[in-house]
Amino acid sequence: MNIVVQKFGGTSVRNLECQRQVMQKVLRPYREGNKVIVVLSAMSGETNRLLGLAEEWSDNPDPAEVDSLVSTGEQISCALFAMLLKQQGVKCRSVLGFQAPVKTDCCYGKARITAIDESRLKGMLQEYDILVVAGFQGCDDNGRITTLGRGGSDTSAVALAAAIKADVCEIYTDVPGVFTTDPNLCSDARKIDRVSYDEMLEMASMGAKVLQIRSVEFAKKYNVTVHVRSTFSDEPGTIVTQEDENMEAVMVSGIAYDKDQARITLIHVKDNPGVSAQIFSPLAEKKILVDMIVQNPSKDGLTDMTFTVPRADVKPTIKTLEKLKYEIGYEELSSNLNVAKVSIIGVGMRNHSGVASKAFRALADENVNILMISTSEIKITCLIDDKYTELAVRTLHKAFNLEEGKHIE
Ligand code: ADP
Ligand code: ASP
Ligand code: MG
Repeated sequence: MNIVVQKFGGTSVRNLECQRQVMQKVLRPYREGNKVIVVLSAMSGETNRLLGLAEEWSDNPDPAEVDSLVSTGEQISCALFAMLLKQQGVKCRSVLGFQAPVKTDCCYGKARITAIDESRLKGMLQEYDILVVAGFQGCDDNGRITTLGRGGSDTSAVALAAAIKADVCEIYTDVPGVFTTDPNLCSDARKIDRVSYDEMLEMASMGAKVLQIRSVEFAKKYNVTVHVRSTFSDEPGTIVTQEDENMEAVMVSGIAYDKDQARITLIHVKDNPGVSAQIFSPLAEKKILVDMIVQNPSKDGLTDMTFTVPRADVKPTIKTLEKLKYEIGYEELSSNLNVAKVSIIGVGMRNHSGVASKAFRALADENVNILMISTSEIKITCLIDDKYTELAVRTLHKAFNLEEGKHIE
């Protein structure tokens, strides 16, 4: 039995007309004799609407109930899409996370997939030709519904592709592939034909929401090729796969940005051994993702500690650290929500110097002030005032000639 896995995002299933277009994409492999697993997101805007309801109902909504609530978005789109397919005489059914089942840990709101029962899915595929699986959701060991974090349907799709050992997972979205930067923000952005897992991981973790980071981790771990392409055209998209020689020739392959960031500063922290662990261990226990960390040189045994967290995690971060104020021993906590990260990404950076200085010069020429800097082997990230995000992205895209796709010989 040959099984094709296709995932369609929120804009692709947002109304009847779009779902009809999705249906054409799904019927193609079906008519060629394949079984198809279709993974769907909620209709665009629905997850935000449901999260808004939770906030309206409660100041501190129970995370398990929030997951139970937001998972309904995918349930709606899957049931509706299965109805459309049935009308075409296709043997199909909708499959919710707990029915697949997609097993996860119990970290509500950002659960991680622990197992997928491949035999159950294959059993269903004996009876049905197309399974319409709800993305974004799973269930924990207690049978409670969990969700995988924003954009989590990508991860559902790749994990399902890995579980049934499909060679390719097709991710259909509202842009024709992965671009050198967000094509909706920079009209010069250019589609990339092939990108390595590692670069895609960096782009996703730095804010290129075209793929959720966990989906790329899964793809890399289980060697699933991901094809990102448009629901609304037939052109080939971007292949996310293992690194090859050609990829290394490119010094900078993309610019990513993330506006969902916040900067937290602890002022006058005692500069003693163990202080960093005292600050960051309790945050890690709450699964708060701390990224850039800067500690100033100490003066009179006191230092300032600055770091970034996702904006959604600001409240729990402040709550956790305020509780530990006397234990950690700091004077004041300040937070800034008006920041954004802009990152330059490229595997070729490993072997080339000068990328950082070129980026800093380009930003300086546009009077964009850099608040924090962090680097990895294949990435440079600058934290800036969020009102300069578009300017910074366009400036860096131009500085590295990304619209022309220049290679370093
Ligand atoms: P879906 O609903 O299909 O999952 P998303 O909105 O999650 O779609 O992701 C697609 C969006 O990602 C695009 O509309 C685009 O604005 C944004 N994006 C950000 N960076 C990039 C990039 N480098 N390449 C392509 N799209 C990007
Ligand atoms: N519906 C979820 C979200 O909006 C999951 C997804 O679209 O991938 O984040
Ligand atoms: Mg998405």
